[in-house]
Amino acid sequence: MAIQPADRIKNLPAYVFKALDEAKEKALAKGVDLISLSIGDPDFMPPPATIEAMKTALDEPENHRYPSYVGMASFRQAVAKWMKHRYDLDFDPNGEILTLIGSKEGIAHLPLGYLNPGDVALLPNPGFPMYTSTVQFAGGEPWQYPLKRENDYLPDFAEIPEDIAARAKLLYLNYPHNPTGAVADLAFYEKAVAFAKAHDILIMQDAAYSEVYNDQQPPSIFQVEGGRDCAIEVYSFSKSYSATGWRLGYAVGDRELLYPLMRVKDQVDSGQFNVVQEAGIAAMALGDPACNDVREVYRSRREAAMKSITEAGYEVFDTGATLYIWVKVPFDCTSAVFCARALEEQGVLVTPGNAFGSQGEGWFRIALCLEADRIAEGAARLAKLLQT
Ligand SMILES: *Cc1c(COP(=O)(O)O)cnc(C)c1O
Repeated sequence: MAIQPADRIKNLPAYVFKALDEAKEKALAKGVDLISLSIGDPDFMPPPATIEAMKTALDEPENHRYPSYVGMASFRQAVAKWMKHRYDLDFDPNGEILTLIGSKEGIAHLPLGYLNPGDVALLPNPGFPMYTSTVQFAGGEPWQYPLKRENDYLPDFAEIPEDIAARAKLLYLNYPHNPTGAVADLAFYEKAVAFAKAHDILIMQDAAYSEVYNDQQPPSIFQVEGGRDCAIEVYSFSKSYSATGWRLGYAVGDRELLYPLMRVKDQVDSGQFNVVQEAGIAAMALGDPACNDVREVYRSRREAAMKSITEAGYEVFDTGATLYIWVKVPFDCTSAVFCARALEEQGVLVTPGNAFGSQGEGWFRIALCLEADRIAEGAARLAKLLQT
C-alpha cells in the first residue's frame, strides 16, 4: 500500500498481550477450560454509591456540556481532602491538582510537556510498557534502569551513568510496582529526590496502586523533604475502586511542575465527563471503607493463590501490594516457554515477565482478577506443572 503510517507506529513493539490474546483464543476454540490469570483488569463492581452518583449526574443538563479542562472544582476539592486524609499533605485544588482521563492519559502526555528531541527519560525495567513508547512518541530517548530482585526491585541510582543522568529530564517511578508488586519506603524516596535534584530531573511517580496493599500503607513521595520541588504523582481510580472503565485519575504536584502537562492537555482534550468525576467524588466520600473492601478482595484471592504455588515450590516475590504475584520460572527455560507450557498443559494463562522488559525474563506474573475459587484452581494447576 502506498499510504504508510509514521515510523513511530511502525517501530512500536507488538502489543505484549496480543500474542497472549491469540494463544487464549486458540485454547478456547479447542474447548479448554481456561483460567486467565493474565490481565490486570478488576472484575468486580465499583461501590454502589458511585453508580448512584453517576445516575443522578446524568440527569443534570449542565453535565452534558464541555467539562472543565482541569477538572470540576468539586472533584479537585475532593482530591485535596483525600490527600490530606491519606497523607496529611495540603494541595491547592487550584493549580496543584489536575483531573486526568485515566492516569494513562496523563502519563502519555507528560513527555510532550517536558522532552525535547534527545532528552532522556529514565524508565523502570521491568515496567509498564507504555512508558517507553510514549517517551518515544515525544521524541525523547528512553533509558531503562534495571530493577533487580536482590534490590527488592528498587533502582540503584549509582548505576545510572553520569552522562545519561546529565541528559535526563524525567525519571519514572511506579510504586507499588507493576509487575513485581515492589513497594518503596520513605528512605528510598529520599534517595530518589536527592538524585533528581542533583540532575534537575522531574520525577513522575505512578501511584496507580496506592490503595492496593496488604497492611503497610505505601507512602507518597511528597512526604519526604524536597519532594514537591522535583516530583509529581499520578493517581488512578482504576485499581483503588475497581473502575478501569471510568477512565478517571489525577495528577498532583507543584503548580509550575504540573503546568506543562496542563498546557499539553489544553490542546488535545477537553476534560473528563462530569458524570465520571461525580462518581469519583462519591468514591472518595466513602473514605477508607471503600478501599478496605477492595483490599479485602485481593487479600483473600492472594491467599487462595499463594497456598498451592508456594507449597509446590515456586519462588515468589510477594509484598501483598498490587493485584499481582510475581513468580520465578521454576524450570531452566524462558518466561515465554514456561507460559506457553502453562497454557497448553494446564489451561492457565499467566503473563511472561519479559513482556515488561528484558529484566523480567525468568519470571512470570499472576493477576488476581478472578473469583478466589478459580484463582485457587489456577494455582493448583500451576502446582501440577511442578509435580509431573
Ligand atoms: C493499571 C495501571 C495504571 C492505571 O491506568 P488508568 O489509565 O488509570 O486505568 C497506571 N499505571 C500502571 C503501572 C498500571 O498498572
